[in-house]
Amino acid sequence: MNTPLPDNSPDSLDPPDWDAFGSLAHQMLNDMLDYCHTLPERPVWQPAPESVRTCFREGLPRHPTDLAAVHHDFLQNILPYAVGNGHPRFMGWVHGGGTPVGMLAEMLAAGLNANVGGRNQIPVAVEWQVVAWMRELFGFPDTASGLFVTGTSSANHQALLVARTAALGVEVRRQGLGTAGQRLTAYASAESHVSVVSALDYAGIGTDALRTIPVNARYELDVAALAAAISRDRAAGYTPFWIVGTAGSVNVGAVDDLNAIADLAEREQVWFHIDGAYGALALMAADLAPRLRGIERADSIACDFHKWGQVPYDAGFLMIRDGALHQATFAAPVAYLNRQARGLASGGVWPCDLGIDLSRGFRALKAWFTLRVYGSDRLGEVMSTTCRLAAYLGERIEAEPRLELLAPVMLNIVCFRYRATDPDPINAAIVMDLQESGIAAPSTTLLQGRLAIRAALVNHRTTQADMDILLAATLAIGTRLTCTNP
Ligand SMILES: *Cc1c(COP(=O)(O)O)cnc(C)c1O
Repeated sequence: MNTPLPDNSPDSLDPPDWDAFGSLAHQMLNDMLDYCHTLPERPVWQPAPESVRTCFREGLPRHPTDLAAVHHDFLQNILPYAVGNGHPRFMGWVHGGGTPVGMLAEMLAAGLNANVGGRNQIPVAVEWQVVAWMRELFGFPDTASGLFVTGTSSANHQALLVARTAALGVEVRRQGLGTAGQRLTAYASAESHVSVVSALDYAGIGTDALRTIPVNARYELDVAALAAAISRDRAAGYTPFWIVGTAGSVNVGAVDDLNAIADLAEREQVWFHIDGAYGALALMAADLAPRLRGIERADSIACDFHKWGQVPYDAGFLMIRDGALHQATFAAPVAYLNRQARGLASGGVWPCDLGIDLSRGFRALKAWFTLRVYGSDRLGEVMSTTCRLAAYLGERIEAEPRLELLAPVMLNIVCFRYRATDPDPINAAIVMDLQESGIAAPSTTLLQGRLAIRAALVNHRTTQADMDILLAATLAIGTRLTCTNP
């Protein structure tokens, strides 16, 4: 015999005592606000000791632990050992700083727990509003569509799939690549991001299809070389189908000549995609926007709100000029996703019709909060400021005989090194020492075979004093290392 089920679910995971839970919740919020406002006083980064790593090797917890105890573990063993990109002297890779506003929006989104794959709900309308704002910013037509994704790596991949549909027709979705008989080729500069290469791999086109176009002295794609490569490929029977321009290259912050590429793409009838991972949003900055001229002519743009946009991770974004083609690339006619005239399943295009993901979180909310609370002008000013800081850092490096600038400072990235007889290992060691000291966290890259200290200034908290601290620490460590290793 079945026993009757109780009126209140004994299996509910809600707190048995909402008041006690509430005070702990407020404590957790206060802790994170403290963390945010004391960031500059903390080390940028510190390696986790073995004693901490051991905690993360325990097996599946089958039995409950008090929330307070788990939170305590978070404060002790997780919070101090994160990557540190909120800190004003985190300059590694291209990481955004995030804001307390974005953090609160994330909490609200998590509380709502909306599945923003589709359906008749305002969270979808919020996402479409941000898409409309981006159309306005990019100068795209009303027929353009867009959506949030994890990051630009995914956006590049999904943009490529739409370009593939444009080249081969929607039949490619059923027939696959082989049957059309074309040998597709894609084009991007030697400075383009690895995710552009990976996109060809994931799409089954293969990375051999990528023609790597050389760059000029300013690290911008050489458009004449691009034109020549396309002609060569056409003559050899290939089908050029995807040109990628970069707006803000990951190594040095170069912006390709987007208008010149757009002219060529138009002439050649080839899809023009822009990887604007961090650079595209610089359209918000009056002084930087002219650098991006031609962006409005792209067929697709990939960018990240989580870099210069200061929205907490993750918040990648994709926009496609031809919304119908975008939908034709991803929408799937299955009964359980059918649209109805009324009710929850009504509404037109859903985000799941425009990308790989069906279930998806409410990423749009943190971008919507960020844009509304700060306004795009203010976010643009943050971007301009980081570029001015980069220019200042570049000037100080040029004035310092022990240092050498390795690339022109074009946007917000500064690549330099400490002069030494065997500079690569010394500069690699300087960066590791800087990171482990907790003073500053630049990263490294290779420029023309030379190892560079790379400072990417993305964070709204960074100041001129932080540039001075970075330089002083670099010189001190460089001097120490070159004295002990002559
Ligand atoms: C960061 C970056 C990417 C990758 O973006 P994710 O958000 O990390 O996936 C691609 N291209 C460029 C130019 C980037 O700076």
